[in-house]
Amino acid sequence: MIDPVAFAQALLRADSVTPARGAVFDVLETALVPQGFAVDRFTVGEAPDGPVENMLAVRGDGPQHLAFAGHVDVVPPGGGWTGSPWSGEIRDGLLYGRGAVDMKGAVAAFVAAASRSDAGTLSLIITGDEEGPATYGTVALMERMASRGVVPDLCLVGEPTSTARLGDMVKIGRRGSVNIWIEVPGRQGHVAYPHLADNPIPRLIAILAEIEGVVLDEGTDWFQPSNIEVTDITVGNPAHNVIPAKASARLSIRFNDRHRGADLIEHIRAIAERHAPGVVVTGKVSGEAFLTEPGAFSTLLSDAIVGATGVTPELSTTGGTSDARFLSKLCPVVEFGLINATMHKVDEAVAVEDLRTLTDIYANVISRALD
Ligand SMILES: [Zn+2]
Repeated sequence: MIDPVAFAQALLRADSVTPARGAVFDVLETALVPQGFAVDRFTVGEAPDGPVENMLAVRGDGPQHLAFAGHVDVVPPGGGWTGSPWSGEIRDGLLYGRGAVDMKGAVAAFVAAASRSDAGTLSLIITGDEEGPATYGTVALMERMASRGVVPDLCLVGEPTSTARLGDMVKIGRRGSVNIWIEVPGRQGHVAYPHLADNPIPRLIAILAEIEGVVLDEGTDWFQPSNIEVTDITVGNPAHNVIPAKASARLSIRFNDRHRGADLIEHIRAIAERHAPGVVVTGKVSGEAFLTEPGAFSTLLSDAIVGATGVTPELSTTGGTSDARFLSKLCPVVEFGLINATMHKVDEAVAVEDLRTLTDIYANVISRALD
């Protein structure tokens, strides 16, 4: 049986700033192979977004298949730590290190939980690039799974979802995210001769004024209302007496499962073209919204959490995007992990007690899902 605390320390001592390769995966493989996992490690991509190492580990051939998804890369530690960010040291009941909560702690808890059981089919979907561009991360793992016919029935993502207490929040979906650029062309000229120029700024203001009034929806049972936020307006005109040649703005939309990213880009384009013929609107969808309707899987997880902590988790769709947005195309996905208060911060730390409790919860999920 694997001790989650000692194993988390071993993971934390392997420097794995994104994109991660090598040592941290060696630590993982050394723990999984003796448990009977078939470990498939592969490296994909080229600079600047790669190369990235990923690992698919599968054990058993039972009828039910539970997958655990996570990452072993971490954000750069930055300066100002009390100790070394790679020490994995314990002080006053807290285990310190970059990645302690996001999310080597949860990976360690799941591997320890797996060592207590041999039921069903269990897999670990572990990427070395979640914190970076994620070009060659979970998406590459899903391609690998498809080519090998690895299809889970349920997927648990171990991101740190708890807020004030371990167990207080489970994520059953995430909002989508799209960034949009609007560029209004004009004709440069002297402000004293405006009839010889064409100022793009009033048209951009009209576009943004209409966008400010758009109500995308009123929210749903599980999602807050979708929101359009203007994040930048740029003209870049240093002169008092020049009418500028162009004016641009940038928007960020966080949207619920009533929308698709591409439709939102079209919606903004239609508004912009009404006010400014010739406007250039471009968009980039960084993730679509998804929802795993509350049901058997979220209930099973909630029961395991209540059993171990006495806390009834809130089922939430708040926060930014996560790799669950990709995995939700495979099967029902829920996310549950440690308290996220110190993630990405100086002196990131997890309570040793929480690490043990999380292991109990994950072990309970494994037995409820697979037995
Ligand atoms: Zn994370």
